[in-house]
Amino acid sequence: MTVYDDLGVRTLINAKGTATRLSGGIMRPEVSAAMVAASQACVDIAELQAAASRIISEATGAEAGYVASGASACLLLGAAACITGLDPGRMARLPDAAGMKNECVMVRSQRNFYDHAIRAAGLRIIEVGLPDRYAGAGVRDAEGWEIDDAITDRTACVFYVADAQARPPLADVTAVAHARGVPVLVDAAAQLPPQSNLRRFIAEGADLVAFSGGKALGGPQASGILAGRRDLVMAAALQHLDLDIFWDMWSPPPTLIDKYRLKGAPAHGIGRSCKAGKEEIVGLLTALRLFIAEGDAARHARWLKDCETVAAALDGFLVTITGSNDTGAVPIVEITLDPEQMSPTELCLRLQTGEPAVVLDPGQRDKGIVTVNPMCLRPGEAQVTGEQIARVLREL
Ligand SMILES: *Cc1c(COP(=O)(O)O)cnc(C)c1O
Repeated sequence: MTVYDDLGVRTLINAKGTATRLSGGIMRPEVSAAMVAASQACVDIAELQAAASRIISEATGAEAGYVASGASACLLLGAAACITGLDPGRMARLPDAAGMKNECVMVRSQRNFYDHAIRAAGLRIIEVGLPDRYAGAGVRDAEGWEIDDAITDRTACVFYVADAQARPPLADVTAVAHARGVPVLVDAAAQLPPQSNLRRFIAEGADLVAFSGGKALGGPQASGILAGRRDLVMAAALQHLDLDIFWDMWSPPPTLIDKYRLKGAPAHGIGRSCKAGKEEIVGLLTALRLFIAEGDAARHARWLKDCETVAAALDGFLVTITGSNDTGAVPIVEITLDPEQMSPTELCLRLQTGEPAVVLDPGQRDKGIVTVNPMCLRPGEAQVTGEQIARVLREL
């Protein structure tokens, strides 16, 4: 009996990918084992975060790093760090950022549901650019000069959501922002693979970058990485850690927190609700090491094999695999349905209510396409997924 049977909760075959609502992905046994081992001894959490900082710094090329309960949590912490710097009085007042640098400049076409995280820290978003390339009315999006135009003495940071389509290019944005002395905070939650992206945004000048631990990295679902400038990571740590301490008895690792730069010990900060336990921190670091050790080519080959298994079970249907030649991409099975026969919505609904329940990705349903993402499939599930889709389509 699995833990889920015990709770009366059904399990799913997750052919959609690392969605939070589907509980993310499957951790490798080494990661689960590391979490269990971590749970069996107590440590000083700041010392553990200092070790995380060193490992994240090696992996990303950033000066420092930190672990919190997700990329979203890391964005909240990063935003708070940009607002307060190392001032404990300001840290205490958040999310009321009145009188502080409380604005963040953001390209309008990058707005998304996750930007709640930075608003939660107290930032007001100043949108720039008219993305008429999306309206079909033109070809442009925000430009560097518009970001420059929106920066004032109230600007805490520029917030950038990394994606292949994002404009202007990050290097242009960091150049503009740095010329005005403003840091750039990057949401790169889902920008892995390719593995080179671990270093890319820092190399392009980002001051802070957030990655999800529970997506391609294969870490705990409730974990994320914040990597970047040492002073900003220190400000983030100070607003996240339990600081129920006496100043004269407090000796945090100086690589994470140089207490002599502070006028006093901050109180518990706005990031207190983004807690990551020792289990998540150790699990994430283990996953990060495994992710780097596996490499893009082997990971891609593993995913592609599952895609080919799904496609083979769907012989006779219109199936293509995208990203099959790009080892830095996640290969995806695209199934194009005959609109006379079954809609993508109906196929997805039938499969997710079936036995076993299989959840597909309906994101391209307007084009008559249903997709299978191999990232969260367990051994044997690619075959079952393909068979279940074929069974429903043949039952017509
Ligand atoms: C997934 C995602 C997040 C949130 O990441 P969590 O690790 O789940 O907190 C934020 N931004 C983007 C663009 C994402 O895709």
